[in-house]
Amino acid sequence: MITDTVASAVAFETVIGLEIHAQLVTKSKMFCGCSAAAFAGEPNANVCPVCMGMPGVLPVINREAVRQAVRVALALHGTVQRESKFDRKNYTYPDLPKGYQISQYDLPLSRGGFVAVLTEAGERRVGITRVHMEEDTGRSLHRTHPDGSGYSLVDLNRAGVPLLEIVSEPDMRSPEEARQYLVTLRDILRYIGASTGNMEEGALRCDANISLRPQGASEFGAKVEIKNVNSFRGVYRAIQYEVQRQAEVLRAGGTLIQETRGWSEERGVTLPQRTKEYADDYRYFPEPDLPTLVLSDAFIAEARASLPELPDARRHRYSTDFGVNVSDAAALSGSRELGDYFEAITDGTTDRTRIALATALITNDWLTLHNERGLSLADAPSAPDVRGLMDLIERGVISRSTAKEVFAAMVETRQRADVIVKERGLAQQSDAGALTAMIERAIADNPKMVADYNKNPNALNALVGQVMKMSRGTANNQVVRELLIQRLAATE
Ligand code: ADP
Ligand code: ZN
Ligand code: MG
Repeated sequence: MITDTVASAVAFETVIGLEIHAQLVTKSKMFCGCSAAAFAGEPNANVCPVCMGMPGVLPVINREAVRQAVRVALALHGTVQRESKFDRKNYTYPDLPKGYQISQYDLPLSRGGFVAVLTEAGERRVGITRVHMEEDTGRSLHRTHPDGSGYSLVDLNRAGVPLLEIVSEPDMRSPEEARQYLVTLRDILRYIGASTGNMEEGALRCDANISLRPQGASEFGAKVEIKNVNSFRGVYRAIQYEVQRQAEVLRAGGTLIQETRGWSEERGVTLPQRTKEYADDYRYFPEPDLPTLVLSDAFIAEARASLPELPDARRHRYSTDFGVNVSDAAALSGSRELGDYFEAITDGTTDRTRIALATALITNDWLTLHNERGLSLADAPSAPDVRGLMDLIERGVISRSTAKEVFAAMVETRQRADVIVKERGLAQQSDAGALTAMIERAIADNPKMVADYNKNPNALNALVGQVMKMSRGTANNQVVRELLIQRLAATE
């Protein structure tokens, strides 16, 4: 009993490292001339003797794939190796026609680096161990005969598509941090155009390694590797489940073994696949059909020069130069297109109020519509049109709350803000003449509110609200307020 109590009081620290596979965006495959883009089409239409693993053919390194890989490595602050090497990773599987995958083993393309991940506790650097190149496998399709027996088909369209493996250090400490790392990495890949980063299409795949250790311990515990989790939510849930499971084993006095587990999305659990004793022995050896990959300084410099401003640099710039708060700056810089849109709207202004207005229009009004209706930036009002809307707000023609309606109408009708305001009669009424009648009615209809106001000036809001309602929100709030105070002072 006593030991039980002690054991359950032990707090564990979660340790997570992720291995990410990202398909690179190139015209052709990693080692042959087949299209690397058309693998979703007619099965086995996109193949040649090289990617089908026929004897007597030779692979050729795709220069553009190397260039994209170098760009990714540099964007992750890695040290690109002047010389790296391809190796054969040997295993037998129906979707691997050669019986080996060409990968990089002991001399990877790049070593070191980090990803700056924004967490609730601020910015944290997750270390990158290495980035290396390899080729994708084909796909097995599992089918059922009418009599219920199963069979499998193999589609080799995907075999040989350039793949990048990005291995992180065991630096993450919570499922949320791991999810955030993955999102940040996806954003970087998309910013530089090296990968679509679409998890649902398999262009980005994640193996998660998780272990626990007693709080304060310096040694890592035995890790469990969860294979191929296929969504951001899945990564979060799989890690969360695994942390719970491991903690329960340890608290019950058990020990954990190093093993590979699979994530079942439907059941929300991880299930054992194989333990270390049965771990694959890939018998890596140098690929004899390919030369050492030697990169010149000029090649690396050119790749570096081609990189755009990256999301974290943008986020910092929006915070420091524009005074945008951290979470809005993160949202605005989350995609390159959205950041470009923000900058087209603010158009070099240094007016912080106007920048704050632009920020709010994008992060509230636009992103709400974008998320609710699945719109893309092509559906958003043009930057000049949004500037027109901001002008109307700044000149007091419409209130910020009316602007919400106008913005939605701009998306819907693709008309300019001033046209919509005019057609729908949304201009604020600041003219005392037009407002007086409504004010008189509000006072006559609500003697209780007037009495309340005479006791406590804060009660004015109720009367202001009555007038705003009568005007369908178009009355200028500030003018109504002033006119009401004048009028009520006169009756006192
Ligand atoms: P393996 O030899 O089993 O492939 P590696 O040392 O290459 O293991 O690490 C693979 C991944 O697992 C890396 O992302 C690394 O950060 C992570 N990792 C290594 N040890 C641990 C651990 N004890 N807990 C969690 N993750 C770990
Ligand atoms: Zn081919
Ligand atoms: Mg490994």
